[in-house]
Amino acid sequence: MHSLQSYFETFIKVSDFISRNNRNEKCWCDSGKKFKNCHLNREKSIPLTIQEEQEKLKKIDTSFKLCLFNKFDNNCSNGIIKAHSVSKELFLRKISKNNNVYSPIINTIKHNIIIKEVHVNNASIFYGFCNTHDTSLFSDFEQKKFTSTDCQLLKISYRSLCLEIFKKMKVIEKYYFYKNNSDKGKELSKQIDIQIQCNQEIIFNKNSLNTLEKIQTQLEDDVINNTSHKMKHCLITLDKPQNILCSSMVSPEFNLDRKRLQSLKATPNAKNLFLNSFIFNNTGYILISWLIEDDDYGNNFSNSIFSDPTLINHKLISLILMYTENVFISPSWWDDLTDEDKHHFQCLIEYIEDKDQGGILNIKDHPEALNYSYHVFI
Ligand SMILES: [Zn+2]
Ligand SMILES: [Zn+2]
Repeated sequence: MHSLQSYFETFIKVSDFISRNNRNEKCWCDSGKKFKNCHLNREKSIPLTIQEEQEKLKKIDTSFKLCLFNKFDNNCSNGIIKAHSVSKELFLRKISKNNNVYSPIINTIKHNIIIKEVHVNNASIFYGFCNTHDTSLFSDFEQKKFTSTDCQLLKISYRSLCLEIFKKMKVIEKYYFYKNNSDKGKELSKQIDIQIQCNQEIIFNKNSLNTLEKIQTQLEDDVINNTSHKMKHCLITLDKPQNILCSSMVSPEFNLDRKRLQSLKATPNAKNLFLNSFIFNNTGYILISWLIEDDDYGNNFSNSIFSDPTLINHKLISLILMYTENVFISPSWWDDLTDEDKHHFQCLIEYIEDKDQGGILNIKDHPEALNYSYHVFI
């Protein structure tokens, strides 16, 4: 697909296209459909109401389902299950209160973050695996005793990668929906505007999806054979179970000493970290993982957590709250915080790395949230 580079360029292209009046030509918007089945008379088509649009988007959220392992092994079982990216019984249950946990959610209307109560059945779910593959891929830590083998650690990180792939696919699906619907009934210039924006978003997200799928392919052998040759980890053990859990893939530009490690603007290939916070056998862990080819990046980032012993707890909590989207908080712990503490955490959650240049780490310590004991590199 070509990018519709600039508005004026596109406007000339589109005017020229329309003057040819060939209904069977591929449409100017790069949808791949014939003009007669796409943008012909779009200005006359009836726009969706806000309510219809919300319903359709919600439908994408609930009906977009696939097994992410099907391309490596097509022996999928029937149906796609509701998979938890943070295990329900193993992890979420441990911090829940009356079967609920709290989760920071972006409020798209007010552009701020709200702490929302979510039932553990619905927390961290994604429809990204069939039952067979969900069981076979993750039984290594879901059903066996956790002994922090590199293979178990790999599987935990692999699930964060799969969640990211799934999220990316769904975002692309939504932009296709906007592309097909949001310029209905609008004049040509507005149609061009919307198509340019949608195409740019689709290209951007497809590129990142492509990168993520390459990582998934790279890890395929290890995941199938229960080996671990492609990933490195820093496993941090806490001195008691923590109150904040997460599973996410992140690409920090700065380490936790505010030294720049990469510039996402300068490279299409971001270096990534897989970040998980979980509890096994009444012990809390934080796992940071990276691909072997990003070893300098992963080591540098991880070591910056421990550079000042008095700041470790604070850096750990900053790390989890600042970068991740898939975060779950113990309601009992959160409700007991003072308003001032809640405000501190809220600031961390709303932190934007690029804008703040790796800053705002100088706020108060919260050892009761996560309490560091020791760490190992694996
Ligand atoms: Zn079109
Ligand atoms: Zn499957």
